[in-house]
Amino acid sequence: MTVTVRFAPSPTGYIHIGNIRTALSNWLFALKNDGRFVLRFDDTDIERSRQEYAEAIAADLDWLGIRPDRVEYQSKRFAIYDAAVERLKTAGLLYPCYETAEELERRRKLRLTRRLPPVYGREALKLTESERAKLEAEGRKPHWRFLLPNFEGDPFSPRRTEVHWGDLVRGPQTVDLASMSDPVLVREDGSYLYTLPSVADDIDMGITHIIRGDDHVTNTGAQIAIFRALGAEPPRFGHHNLLTTISGEGLSKRSGALSIRTLRDAGYEPMAVASLAVLIGTSENVVAAPDMQALAGHFDLAATSRSSAKFDPAELDTLNRALVHELSFGAVAGRLAALGIEGDRAEAFWLAVRGNLDRVKDAALWWKIVQEGVQNAPDLSQEDVAFVREAFDLLPPEPWDRGTWKIWTDAVKEASGRKGKTLFMPLRLALTGLPSGPELADLLPLVGREGMLARRP
Ligand code: GLU
Repeated sequence: MTVTVRFAPSPTGYIHIGNIRTALSNWLFALKNDGRFVLRFDDTDIERSRQEYAEAIAADLDWLGIRPDRVEYQSKRFAIYDAAVERLKTAGLLYPCYETAEELERRRKLRLTRRLPPVYGREALKLTESERAKLEAEGRKPHWRFLLPNFEGDPFSPRRTEVHWGDLVRGPQTVDLASMSDPVLVREDGSYLYTLPSVADDIDMGITHIIRGDDHVTNTGAQIAIFRALGAEPPRFGHHNLLTTISGEGLSKRSGALSIRTLRDAGYEPMAVASLAVLIGTSENVVAAPDMQALAGHFDLAATSRSSAKFDPAELDTLNRALVHELSFGAVAGRLAALGIEGDRAEAFWLAVRGNLDRVKDAALWWKIVQEGVQNAPDLSQEDVAFVREAFDLLPPEPWDRGTWKIWTDAVKEASGRKGKTLFMPLRLALTGLPSGPELADLLPLVGREGMLARRP
């Protein structure tokens, strides 16, 4: 059977680094297993879902290099969920309930005082036809619960019913279906909660592996029961740990701070973001993988730790730098052109500056320095100004190449008697306006003799 996974975001906001941990886990799992990746928008909540968010999510995944084999919207698939509802009703596994939230809360407290587990007592199952008709005549509308298979014969005497699954991350898992309430699948207004559409789709789309955050572990027992009630074998499950902010708070689609959009606009490389999203909170070293194939080589669901992991933006800077320092000119030519960096000298320029950049876009400043001159007048002492003037008089004739720097500075050393920092720092400041940066031997031929003479103080 072809491995088929899905990433199922609700399009209610921009996705963040935690969401893409899930997306990438699925993508890399598919990549390693020659599988298929379905992007499924869980947009049954019409109020909160927005098409613009769905499009933004698709664009963010594309930026990361995730190319779904299939894209689906739950809002277009109600016929499938309605059919699942009918099937469950016919089997007597979906029953109407009329309690209000207050009634349920009152009952829950009562059960606690009687030392009973605070789960739904299935009172609605006892309603007769005429009692139901009476409630509906009062204007009450039913919500619908799934009857969990945790009893033999008498639903009012649930007994321990273990459901097991071998979690791809957490290992063997067991839940007792008697410890939970029959889940509500359909609300009073006829709208669906997430559970049933998700299972119906997973069956319909032939999902073989459900890889998602560990906030869904508690849903899995009931979902396995629903898979079986709908006549399907449940897929494999894997629940990875969640990411938090550095101070330990959960990430939220609403906060926006660590959204993929923000990181992209800040100029991070997609593979830096992807590497960190996948590798933090695992026993693998956090390294900057240059592409998805390389990242797949470091990816192992079973190496994921159980506790949540902190996302530290400083780590992203480290990974980004490592990637940028290795990026070939071909890989960035388009982005450099968009920054105005093009022409015959663009490649040599890139190779000269990349090792000093935190982000590709920072190349723009160095291009300006090389093309137009220093951006901030260097703060040179009187004595250094005299030294620099004298040094500039010794600039050799063109053509210039990487060796020119040594020829020039040897001559300057000889003439001035200066060496080390007192020799090089005033020259660096005169050439770039900055106390640190790319190798001057590389910059000198890019600036050229004319450019240098224009910088003579
Ligand atoms: N829409 C659900 C979520 O974003 C999907 C959960 C699942 O993968 O089953 O949490």
